[in-house]
Amino acid sequence: MSFLIKFARQWIAGETLDDAISRTKKANNSGIGVIINFLGEHVRNKTEADRNIEENLGILQAIEDSKLNASLSIKLTQLGLDIEKNLCLSNAEKIVSSAASKNIFVWIDMENSPYTGDTIDIYLELFKKYKNAGIAIQSNLKRSESDVRRIAASGGIIRLVKGAYKEKSEIAYTSRKDVTINFSRLMGYIFYKSSFFAIATHDELLINEALEANKAHKKRLEIQMLMGVREELKSGLVKKGLTVVDYIPYGKNWFPYSVRRIRERKRNILLILRSIFDF
Ligand SMILES: Cc1cc2nc3c(=O)[nH]c(=O)nc-3n(C[C@H](O)[C@H](O)[C@H](O)COP(=O)(O)OP(=O)(O)OC[C@H]3O[C@@H](n4cnc5c(N)ncnc54)[C@H](O)[C@@H]3O)c2cc1C
Repeated sequence: MSFLIKFARQWIAGETLDDAISRTKKANNSGIGVIINFLGEHVRNKTEADRNIEENLGILQAIEDSKLNASLSIKLTQLGLDIEKNLCLSNAEKIVSSAASKNIFVWIDMENSPYTGDTIDIYLELFKKYKNAGIAIQSNLKRSESDVRRIAASGGIIRLVKGAYKEKSEIAYTSRKDVTINFSRLMGYIFYKSSFFAIATHDELLINEALEANKAHKKRLEIQMLMGVREELKSGLVKKGLTVVDYIPYGKNWFPYSVRRIRERKRNILLILRSIFDF
């Protein structure tokens, strides 16, 4: 287990907000913007959800106080989506409205498919009142094309990702190739419909495709990546004058996030097996 914690630390700033803030300052000093995320998901009671609201409000205050180039990412199951949809909406609104008053952007992460519909509903409800919010959409889901159309029609702001959760083939593209083709297709649509959006990927071919397309479209495009992944690619893009943003998570609930990162790359699984079986 202690090896796993050490291994996971490559993707996580630490356990405290101070850890996240010092990592954010470091990224900002290298010309990289940041999305801060307080780790945690699937809370089952209101007290826990309230604690998570307070933590997120603390992040916003810290971003304002230190004048950081940073936004916030939240997960709706961290704010009570498993308890009740309207409770979650009102909890998310507390964060998004505070962020609006401080001129800070809030991204809503997308979780696994049982939450997709509710997450989009809550986002669009918030977006009616607050324009400082965007939402992640996953190219592995077959429904995403109609979701992108719906969000774009409302003027919503999209972060396009491949999708970090294992989904059934009835509702999702399951091969890496098909997920990438769909990413490309959705990105093409967003280029036509949105003036500002983000692609969150470490896939250099997709990033190059987006940069090539943007020569014609000239949209405000953010390239987002995860802390600890492809650092050399990030600095290369910054040198070219592009907007690069690092997603920096922190907190004690590092396990589910780390498992998703481990699953994404065969080499990571191999490194862990090696450390356990010493081969
Ligand atoms: C800023 C950001 C926000 C995200 N938000 C969400 C979200 O809200 N919901 C959601 O479902 N998913 C989210 N994701 C995760 C995303 O869906 C993918 O699971 C993840 O980005 C890996 O896919 P990829 O696009 O990088 O492509 P891949 O095909 O997985 O990777 C491309 C290349 O990047 C490198 N790489 C990728 N991952 C790793 C790794 N862990 N360690 C080392 N190298 C790696 C490898 O060289 C690989 O060949 C987010 C990702 C980012 C960057």
